[in-house]
Amino acid sequence: MNFSGIIAACLAGAAALKAVYDVATPSVVPLLPPGAKPDGGFASLCVKCGKCIEACPYQALHAAGAEAGAFAGAPCIDAREQACRLCADFPCIKACPTGALEDVASKADVRMGVAVINEETCLSFQGMRCEVCYRVCPLIDEAITIDYRKREGDSLHALFAPIIDEERCVGCGLCVERCVVSDPAPAIRIKPMNEE
Ligand code: SF4
Ligand code: SF4
Ligand code: SF4
Repeated sequence: MNFSGIIAACLAGAAALKAVYDVATPSVVPLLPPGAKPDGGFASLCVKCGKCIEACPYQALHAAGAEAGAFAGAPCIDAREQACRLCADFPCIKACPTGALEDVASKADVRMGVAVINEETCLSFQGMRCEVCYRVCPLIDEAITIDYRKREGDSLHALFAPIIDEERCVGCGLCVERCVVSDPAPAIRIKPMNEE
């Protein structure tokens, strides 16, 4: 093989490696259903059969798109569209034939992700009364509380700031679904458990 042949082979190899890397590394990390096994267990067990998607009475689950890399085709949740309702009997988990979704004892034991508030856009952090995320949370006063701090440098006005307890938030996404801020994005998002 001449020099240009070697260069061409190297470039082809690099392109192939990049393609593999792009598939394995999603540009959008999906929010997986409740009970998804942690530490790569879900990815190795889910056969993308869609039985959990069919079983969800709220249509909260859909198949992830190509942007999800290796998770493409696996069940995921777009919390802004339709959050998980943490059904008492978890039909999604019951429908899973492979154990990719494993039993959880109660809704408080679910660990899909953690809510993260953008203090720059959250109305409550700007001194307005909102607290919608707080009121819709199925784990109100556990996963989310209101901190009645005084506004910095303002002795007259209180700040009613929603605060997430990272240990107790289950990542259901109801707060995201209902956030009244939308431009350019909701003031709260879910950081999925499988996100770095
Ligand atoms: S817990 Fe209920 S709402 Fe949530 S994904 Fe499972 S079936 Fe759907
Ligand atoms: S039922 Fe289980 S194996 Fe099938 S798509 Fe859902 S999580 Fe994957
Ligand atoms: S994701 Fe939001 S609504 Fe769900 S438990 Fe966490 S704070 Fe509450």
